[in-house]
Amino acid sequence: MNDTIVAIATSSGQAGIGIIRISGKNALTIADKIFLSKNKKVVSTFKTYTTHYGWIVKNHDSSFVVSNSKKINNTNHDSRITNHEIIDEVILTVMRSPRSYTKEDIVEINCHGGIVSQRAILDLVLENGARLAEPGEFTKRAFLNGRIDLAQAEAVLDVIRAKTDNALKVSLEQLKGALSKQINNLGKELLNILSILEASIDFPDEEIDVLSLKIISGRLNKINKELINILDEAKTGRIFREGINVVICGKPNVGKSSLLNALLKRERSIVTPIAGTTRDTIEEIIDIKGIPLKIVDTAGILEPRDLIERKAVTRSKKYITQADLIILMFDASTKLSKEDKILIKKLKKKQVIAIINKIDLKELIEKDKITKLFKNVVSISAKKIKNINLLEDAICDLVYKGKVINYASNLVTNTRHIELLKKVQKFIATSLNSMDNKLSIEFIAQDIKEALLSIDELLGKKFSQDLLDKIFSEFCIGK
Ligand code: GDP
Repeated sequence: MNDTIVAIATSSGQAGIGIIRISGKNALTIADKIFLSKNKKVVSTFKTYTTHYGWIVKNHDSSFVVSNSKKINNTNHDSRITNHEIIDEVILTVMRSPRSYTKEDIVEINCHGGIVSQRAILDLVLENGARLAEPGEFTKRAFLNGRIDLAQAEAVLDVIRAKTDNALKVSLEQLKGALSKQINNLGKELLNILSILEASIDFPDEEIDVLSLKIISGRLNKINKELINILDEAKTGRIFREGINVVICGKPNVGKSSLLNALLKRERSIVTPIAGTTRDTIEEIIDIKGIPLKIVDTAGILEPRDLIERKAVTRSKKYITQADLIILMFDASTKLSKEDKILIKKLKKKQVIAIINKIDLKELIEKDKITKLFKNVVSISAKKIKNINLLEDAICDLVYKGKVINYASNLVTNTRHIELLKKVQKFIATSLNSMDNKLSIEFIAQDIKEALLSIDELLGKKFSQDLLDKIFSEFCIGK
């Protein structure tokens, strides 16, 4: 925490701009040594949240840093330009402690987005005393310095990884602290109940009467209901965050690639009339009414002809095992084939939406057999983009199970949070049970204490180094 850290915050590769981020107590002095501003001022005199145009320069001598003086005189400035190698033309922003992302002094350098210039600036900052930031270290500092709690820190990652608009909305709510506030309030209520119980334990004169016990039981019941509700909605939250795995299956030429393209509303996989052209699996993320679907178009190969196909079949099998939903396609213009029957047999125990494709052609398929086998059957034409909306509705119905989803609500999306909230709920349920069974107050108080511990863990009021390492190792460097 005492080091000044630096990282390239933008993704590597060519881009319009690149951002080098420096945070820590020496951020400003390091920037002083490498930045030459157009208006001849030194970085340590810059006001917070101001941006400055200038150059990053190398090979400075001691005359470069004119500490304490607010402005560099003309001769000094000109000699700085001529005597030192210019690395890049930049815009530099200063954000002073404590009102910054990490609560420390931060300097951000917007340079040209080339790999070489970003790397050169990074090296220069390192040479001048900073150290390379670990993954997520800026956000970790924001947490350790108390600007955000752990649930909010984790939301940062979810914002970056959001796959759909709704996933982003949910993560931003969490980042703003909506979830933390709700959980915090639950914690406060529990603490309040605990203090009443503990007073009666410590001072037997203040023994709780039956009426008060009834009130406490009512309050615990309310908390229990709220927790059950949060956990119930978390199932949807998890879908927003992680998406669902969908595999499109069907015999060669049934129209799998065409369907994927219709869903994507743009050409992605090669669609040709020759059987078996989709030689390998193709993966795409599609946003269907806010649900991120991770769709895989399998090769559709049943009898591999060569090594490549064999590999593709093995891969398809793996995807099918992991799938949350299978879209099994049939060709309306042909009778059910041997291949269709093999697929039906293989997949009938899975969550399937059966698709009868090519309804624009003369129908020969035994439709009644399919409707008997599968609960969800949709007839479409992938080529003519007909009834694709019905398929989308069927997917939504399955995922939401007919529930209306309020996107703005505090959805818990993170597995760690869900597990901890389950624990909290379990302890509250036990405490209610103990009350019903007239067990001693000590038992009830103990359960509430345990519940509070889990709440503290969720918000990061208590944490282990291992937990922090695990959480922040998932971040990219520079965040
Ligand atoms: P895949 O092997 O299952 O991926 O099948 P493709 O998507 O490559 O489609 C095979 C052929 O069927 C192509 O010529 C498509 O244009 C055609 N096709 C796909 N869907 C339809 C449809 O709904 N109607 C008609 N008439 N042809 C279709």
